[in-house]
Amino acid sequence: MQIKDLTFEELQSFLKEFQLPGYRAQQIFDWIYQKKSFDWQEMTNLPQSIRRELTEKGLVIAALKPVTSVTGSDGTTKYLFELSDGERIESVFLPEQHRNTVCFSTQVGCGMGCAFCATGKNGLIRNLTTAEIVDQIVRIATITGTRITNVVAMGQGEPFANYEALLKAIRILNHSQGLALGARRITISTCGIVPGILKLAEEPFQVNLAISLHAAEDQLRERLMPINKVYPLKALMAASKSYLAKTGRRITYEYALIDGVNDRPQDQVNLVQLLSGMLCHVNLIPLNPVTGTPFQRSRSDRISGFAAALNEAGIETTIRKERGSTLAAACGQLQSKRLERP
Ligand code: SAH
Ligand code: SF4
Repeated sequence: MQIKDLTFEELQSFLKEFQLPGYRAQQIFDWIYQKKSFDWQEMTNLPQSIRRELTEKGLVIAALKPVTSVTGSDGTTKYLFELSDGERIESVFLPEQHRNTVCFSTQVGCGMGCAFCATGKNGLIRNLTTAEIVDQIVRIATITGTRITNVVAMGQGEPFANYEALLKAIRILNHSQGLALGARRITISTCGIVPGILKLAEEPFQVNLAISLHAAEDQLRERLMPINKVYPLKALMAASKSYLAKTGRRITYEYALIDGVNDRPQDQVNLVQLLSGMLCHVNLIPLNPVTGTPFQRSRSDRISGFAAALNEAGIETTIRKERGSTLAAACGQLQSKRLERP
């Protein structure tokens, strides 16, 4: 059993089965998540007999294997990790003056097939386990020697297609004995899986929710994001409203601007119409080009024009700061192939 698959409470009950007191869970979590140890031998305040017993019971501290990394001039670093079955995933470290963010993956590949995204190109390979999700953050904290202050599920994969493993990972990241990351510092981005949105609204902690919109009209959205056939805009907006009513938390809508595709004057009108009167935030993303797709980034005047029109309509809008695109580490560019130097 992977220890990073266990929430604090699960570890406590596991230990209870062997008549070990609850404070041992605290000690173990402290070693794993605060001291970031990967080795039972280091945990010197745990008696040797306990360490031996736990190892014999099959409790292991596996770690992702860093294969390569590549760093850009602003410090953005993309890591390629190998999983125990040889599959590979990417995670991105984004240092800023007052925060250090990790963009983590939730799946190997992705089954959603969005037309503009590199991750979905080869379909879904498999879901990540909770341990594999948590370890991306622990590993990057150790490698960089920094405290990770924010995490975003915006790497490879669709988070809500791996709901249970993700939520468990969030419980571990959020726990005061775990990485103690405040729920407000955790963001989940979804392509619009309605049951996931509704389920998240019922969870006790208040993480941030971002929804990838990319089109404000069904026909176009369907073309860009096949999931729209399952959950069209009407259902998506209804779920958004019920999420807002339940949690009181505004949703961020992500909109990657694609030249001549979703940045036309009519698209702007549609977007304003769709979001008017909603408590929300719009994040415009200058499209990151992906080889093998016909899509190009919108002209910068189009992007600023979109932002101005939305803001004028009272819809709070920002343009996403570009990071990592030269490393192919930006949104939608993550793939599992070997890293190459830019
Ligand atoms: N699967 C989730 C989260 C991972 S993708 C989702 O789709 O929301 C993270 C963000 O990058 C999403 O908003 C996604 O739509 C966006 N994205 C994908 N490909 C992109 C590209 N080529 N350029 C810019 N953003 C892209
Ligand atoms: Fe999957 Fe998100 Fe890429 Fe769509 S944009 S293919 S949901 S990772």
